[in-house]
Amino acid sequence: MKIAIIGTGYVGLVSGTCFAAWGNEVVCVDKDAHKIGALQGGAVPIYEPGLDELVERNSVAGRLSFTCNLAEAVKGAAVVFIAVGTPPRPGHGDADLSFVYMAARELAPLIDDNTVVVVKSTVPVGTGDIVHKIVGSTRKAGTFSVASNPEFLREGVAIEDFLQPDRVVIGVEDKVAEARLVALYGIPLEPKKTPIVVTRRRTSELIKYAANAFLATKITFINEMADLCEQVGSNVGELALGMGLDKRIGTSFLNAGPGYGGSCFPKDTMALLRTAQDYGVSVRIVEETVTANEARKRRMALKVMDALDNDVQGRTIAVLGLTFKPDTDDMRDAPSVPLIETLQRFGAHIRAYDPVGAENASRILSDVELHDDAYECARGADAVVVVTEWDSIRKLDLARLKKVMRQAVLIDLRNAFAPGVAEALGFRVSAIGRPTSR
Ligand code: NAD
Repeated sequence: MKIAIIGTGYVGLVSGTCFAAWGNEVVCVDKDAHKIGALQGGAVPIYEPGLDELVERNSVAGRLSFTCNLAEAVKGAAVVFIAVGTPPRPGHGDADLSFVYMAARELAPLIDDNTVVVVKSTVPVGTGDIVHKIVGSTRKAGTFSVASNPEFLREGVAIEDFLQPDRVVIGVEDKVAEARLVALYGIPLEPKKTPIVVTRRRTSELIKYAANAFLATKITFINEMADLCEQVGSNVGELALGMGLDKRIGTSFLNAGPGYGGSCFPKDTMALLRTAQDYGVSVRIVEETVTANEARKRRMALKVMDALDNDVQGRTIAVLGLTFKPDTDDMRDAPSVPLIETLQRFGAHIRAYDPVGAENASRILSDVELHDDAYECARGADAVVVVTEWDSIRKLDLARLKKVMRQAVLIDLRNAFAPGVAEALGFRVSAIGRPTSR
């Protein structure tokens, strides 16, 4: 099947490459000429484990190509995916749909008859109806379909998530779209018997927000339990295990930390609140989740200050890990940013290390000394703060780290080190959801 993907970001590039790996002919299109130029030259502009190799293999096989020319991309395509960004509108919280609508307006006169246009971007309920109207203002009714197919991949494990998803959700209003999308996913996923949930477009759009809001709530729940553990002398890691082994609960998304961030949970929970408000429905649990998470992110700076006896003026703090989670270079809404900015406001001097996120971080943060070696970053520091639990950070030699620091203070916001390990080396440790060693 020939497929065009509009928007070659994290989702568009991974989806396009994986569709090609399933044997389809895929053209990825983007307005960003720099990005397309890099991809045409064989360079992958984002960090995603395994993606370079998969892009190369499918490009060489002639199944995957990149262009800025939309007409060329959609010509002869049976399915055109819209995978452009839907960032939060500044000051409003609802999703900015201008990129989606622009893509719909641009593709409308260019697609072949009977093309299925699929919105893969995360969009509020009713967006598919508007995309249908936009395309329908240029084309005759009945000569095209508009469907919804939200994406659930996680950055860092995106390829595995795409090729072996827990389920695929398809929202359709006609049989042509249903048959084509069920064939596109159903054939390669047949051996795994992956469920394909076929529903109406409006339900499909809401499934994505409901799923993300639920996961954000689960994280927030365990974070609040962590606060309680700290006060009552319990251990949140063991608590999460004891809870999560109950199959009705599940162990995933029960890692207490500095609060959720990233390009999806903060914006999608806010957008869901907006939708609920617009329709006069109260979704109080999601409201509380958003409020609690924002407060938590701010409180993390206080936790660091507390570990330094509430005086960080002129102190050097080494932040290890900047991206919103390991195995990605994505800095969007990373908890490291408010943490660093708050500590800077209180007069701290910040040094930071991240295995791959430093370049993106340098565009967001100012006055931060970036290092490409964790030990160099910690040299002369008054405290080390672990914000992202990269494998290379978990495996640091703490004895070596302690030797280069001015004083051995560790604030482990990800519980990257097992209880007692750093303490045994003489560190003063403040972790999440377990009593502090002071
Ligand atoms: P991104 O910002 O990484 O990429 C979007 C791309 O679209 C950019 O390269 C931009 O140049 C391009 N673009 C915008 N308008 C265009 C147009 N008219 N024509 C061609 N290209 C255009 O975004 P992303 O992280 O891939 O997210 C895309 C969507 O998928 C969002 O709605 C997001 O919420 C959703 N999503 C993201 C993830 C994730 O982990 N990143 C997971 C699931 C769903």
